[in-house]
Amino acid sequence: MKLEILGTGGGNTPEYGNTSFLIWNENDSEALLMDCGYTVYPYLKNLEAVSGREIISKIKTVAISHLHDDHVGSFGALLTHRWLLQKSKIKTAGVSLDDYLRLILSSHARTGIDGIDKRVLSIPTSHEDDMPSYALYFEGVLYSGDTNKSILGLSEAKNAKIIIHEARLNDFYTHTNIEKLAQSAPSDILAKTWVIHYSTKMRDKIQLRAKELGFAGACSQGQIIDVPNNMYPTLIRNSITNGKQHF
Ligand SMILES: [Zn+2]
Ligand SMILES: [Zn+2]
Repeated sequence: MKLEILGTGGGNTPEYGNTSFLIWNENDSEALLMDCGYTVYPYLKNLEAVSGREIISKIKTVAISHLHDDHVGSFGALLTHRWLLQKSKIKTAGVSLDDYLRLILSSHARTGIDGIDKRVLSIPTSHEDDMPSYALYFEGVLYSGDTNKSILGLSEAKNAKIIIHEARLNDFYTHTNIEKLAQSAPSDILAKTWVIHYSTKMRDKIQLRAKELGFAGACSQGQIIDVPNNMYPTLIRNSITNGKQHF
C-alpha cells in the first residue's frame, strides 16, 4: 500500500493544493481518495496529462471529511467526469453528501454514486460548530480531516500504520496547534504521524518543527509514502517538487 499526497495546503493555500491524498492498493490498480477540495480534480487531470498515468478511472471511493470547499469543492466535477465521460460509478464515505450534491449536480450526474463504502470508518471530530466533520480510517491509514482537537489518543491511532493529521504552528479555534498535538500522544504514535494543512507562511517552520517534535515529518505535494505491512512508513520518493502547483 502507498499514499500519494495530492496537496498539503490550508483552505486559502491553493499553491500547495488542498489537503488530499490517494491510498493505492498493492498493485496500483485501485485507489481511495481522501478529500476532494477545489484544487484536486484539476490537479489530477493535469497529473494524468503530464505523467501519462491513468488515475481518475482507478478511484473506487471518495471519502470526504467535511463540507468546507477545500475538502469537497471539486468532487462534483470528479463525479461528473467519471459518470459522463467514463460511465463508471464511485462509492463515497465520510460526511453525507446527499444535500450537497443535490444542490450542485444534475440528477443524471448523481446516478454516478454507487452507495457508501462501509470499509471506511468515520469518527466524529470537532472543527466547526455548525458543520459535521469526521476523521477517516481505512485499512490502517488514519486521517484527521480538519479538527481543533488531536485524534492521536484514539484507539485507531494505536492500530494505524500511518496517520495524516492537520496541524498549524499556533492556536486557532478550528485547527490543531502542533505543540499541543505533540503533547497528546507518546513518541511511537508521533513517529508514524505526518502533519498537513499548512499555509505558505508556515511551511518551512512546520517542516522543521514536525521533525524536532518527533513526527514523521510534514507532507509535501506529490510525495509518495510507502506503507509496508506492519512497519512504520518510509518516504521513498518525491515525484513532484515541493510546493509547485501543476495546473
Ligand atoms: Zn481545510
Ligand atoms: Zn475545514
